[in-house]
Amino acid sequence: MPLTRFRAKMEQAGLDAFVISQQDNRRYLAGFTGSAGFLLITLQQQYLITDSRYYEQVRRQAPAWKLVKAGYKTIEALANLLTDLHLNEAAIGFEAEYAPYQQYLQLKEAMPAVRWQDTAHFALELRAVKTPAELAAVNSAMALADEAMTHIYTWIRPGLTEKDVAWELELYMRTHGATAVSFEPIVAAGPNSALPHATPTGRTIKRGDVVLIDMGCVVDGYCSDTTRTFSLGQPHNNRYPAVWQVVAQALQAAAGGIKAGISGKAADALARDVIEAAGYGDYFGHSLGHGVGLAVHEGPRVSYAAADPLPAGSVITIEPGIYLPGEFGVRLEDMAVVTPAGATVITRSPKFDVLA
Ligand code: ZN
Ligand code: ZN
Repeated sequence: MPLTRFRAKMEQAGLDAFVISQQDNRRYLAGFTGSAGFLLITLQQQYLITDSRYYEQVRRQAPAWKLVKAGYKTIEALANLLTDLHLNEAAIGFEAEYAPYQQYLQLKEAMPAVRWQDTAHFALELRAVKTPAELAAVNSAMALADEAMTHIYTWIRPGLTEKDVAWELELYMRTHGATAVSFEPIVAAGPNSALPHATPTGRTIKRGDVVLIDMGCVVDGYCSDTTRTFSLGQPHNNRYPAVWQVVAQALQAAAGGIKAGISGKAADALARDVIEAAGYGDYFGHSLGHGVGLAVHEGPRVSYAAADPLPAGSVITIEPGIYLPGEFGVRLEDMAVVTPAGATVITRSPKFDVLA
């Protein structure tokens, strides 16, 4: 139970209560998907403070939580509740990273004696390690994205624009079970593929263009994220085949070497060493990957700047890339579950250097 583990962390940190305001964290801890409200978690009780749009939804989604009907005065309702619980001078955790400055001022004004403590990482640390039900949802989201990518392999042809392909992906996923895309799909052709986070344009895809597609969808609240790069027919650029192979090898080296307990930095180095040895170190600017779950970017960090170990049960992406400005870029991205024995890749759509 996430809530039991959350309370254990509160006790360790000497907190009497915790206020959750971030939407994914509300969903994670309470099952509540509404867009507004606070969770108040004490060591014995849990309360959900929200407005009238969500009273019935709370009853359905979060029956174990005490609903506090706040109208539009959620901060006032929280202050009154803390007073009733004799917690108006307590040490209370909150999520500074997600609290707008305006809200922080209001909290301080309404509850001047509370000792607010920034502990936003509590929920994020718990979320990094998935339960079996969460893994099942991630797998469903990944399987649908794989299916969509495989559909694009047979559907794409010269003469379509990047936007056409992005819409076809979105349409496919939304009509086959996704509630949303996990982010706006990236479809980048020719020199546009050298922009790691390109936005689809009206550019027409020509035979011989390098095409980079990065996309994912949401199923049961959980995200997928995958990237494929291929040349549509024989490539124009004669540097492309070698670069594609280096990226594929880097991905393979990382997928083969990652396991629970190694640091994000060590994981990143598994791929980066391959790219540097091939002479492209200057063209791989971003991190190797990131955690995925309710949010498409969450913990753990899989980056050259991350010293923390990757926990068993986390879901990460492995996405090395090489971007040659003005020419083309190649990125390949698989998702994997981190276990003590290694990384179990869950992305199954095939990788083609050339799509005939
Ligand atoms: Zn991606
Ligand atoms: Zn990613």
